[in-house]
Amino acid sequence: MFSALSDSLDKTFRNLRGVGKISEKNITDALREIRLALLEADVEFGVAKEFIAKVKEKAMGVDVFKSIKPGEQIVKIFNDELTHLLGDDAEALNLNPPAHILLCGLNGAGKTTTAAKLALRLQKEGRRPLLIACDLYRPAAIDQLATLAKQINVPCFTPDPDEKNLVKVAKQALAWAKDQQGTALIFDTAGRQEIDEKLVAELKELHRFVSPAETLLVADSATGQQAVSVARHFDEAVGITGIILTKLDGDARGGAALSMRQVTGRPIKFIGEGEKLDQFGVFHPERMASRILGMGDVVSMVETAAENINEKDAIKAAERIQSGKFDFNDFLDQMNMLRKLGPLDGLLGMLPGFNKIKKQIPADAFDENKMKRMEAIVLSMTPRERTRPELIKGSRRRRIANGSGNTIIEVNRFLKQFTQMRKMMKSKGKMKNMMQQLGGME
Ligand code: GDP
Repeated sequence: MFSALSDSLDKTFRNLRGVGKISEKNITDALREIRLALLEADVEFGVAKEFIAKVKEKAMGVDVFKSIKPGEQIVKIFNDELTHLLGDDAEALNLNPPAHILLCGLNGAGKTTTAAKLALRLQKEGRRPLLIACDLYRPAAIDQLATLAKQINVPCFTPDPDEKNLVKVAKQALAWAKDQQGTALIFDTAGRQEIDEKLVAELKELHRFVSPAETLLVADSATGQQAVSVARHFDEAVGITGIILTKLDGDARGGAALSMRQVTGRPIKFIGEGEKLDQFGVFHPERMASRILGMGDVVSMVETAAENINEKDAIKAAERIQSGKFDFNDFLDQMNMLRKLGPLDGLLGMLPGFNKIKKQIPADAFDENKMKRMEAIVLSMTPRERTRPELIKGSRRRRIANGSGNTIIEVNRFLKQFTQMRKMMKSKGKMKNMMQQLGGME
């Protein structure tokens, strides 16, 4: 997401930074380009126009012309305004127990997945979340929620399949939740292909009965401006307290994320960045602005790492790398650690400047199948071979190839890359080179 927009912004700002003295014309030209880039990213027309006008007004202030680095100053103004457009500060949920949280949205937006993601998050924070299935139309949706709930060990209320009265279901669910002593009740509601009167009437009824502290719209960011208009409609119908934007990991153009706050006046509270249940996080406007501007989001990256990786393991791995003793056992440990972090390109995308070098990295560098094949090779080695890679010669290579279901050429290539990687680690080689090495295995 945002990569086309980030590229355009990067180009425009690079030009501006290169100009020693900035004139009104420089600024006007740059802002025209940025306006086009925003529209191409599917930002709502009025939002883009107003945004550019604000940046222009600030950029025309005397400070910019007087400053030593006017280009940098304009980037800062842009960054501040972008943060403002995205909502300034992250907004926490109202979680006074027992907190009722109602999720609504269209079919396929990611409601059920998001219900489980939110439950997992609240559970990690030490609360007792409960999941409540309120979709009486699609039995499959109820099963889906129950299956996800089981995966994360969260109790789930499933209605009687013959019960068609939503308020009755909600009543039973509340009684059940009381017994369960839940502190946060997440209601997954029925969706539709599009908003219709029946859906709205039912949702209103349920809303009135449950009287939720939070009514969150789950919106698919890939649907662009449609997501924004859906949010507006749901807000008019039941009054939403926030938005959860899903599928930010896709390659949609990002306009939904940028227009949402301004058009609806409601905050984006969380974002979904993958199908896995832990690919979910609080929406931080400042960090998102930073990502869009290619300045990275190191804070989120460190947080993700801290949540998923044991500090001792990380220190041990770093020591092994620095000491040059890195062997195949360490390689396996690192593979496991990486897996816990989720898709690697998503994580690395948070590094400043990563998007710029991304194109130079082979597309399949982060391919899970390839990782599995490399792992199979290591697992076919004897313990002694794993600690002493230099022992692996001719016949041993053939045995490993047979054992792991690879050709000898593949094994040779992997061993060569491993040796090179080891050398590079010793000489603290650059990340880019390492990525290219990893990507070289076919
Ligand atoms: P619902 O109909 O609104 O309940 O939607 P589901 O929860 O069934 O999700 C629809 C599809 O979107 C499923 O295949 C999910 O795995 C997928 N999905 C949900 N959230 C995300 C996300 O943040 N990123 C990606 N890539 N897929 C998602």
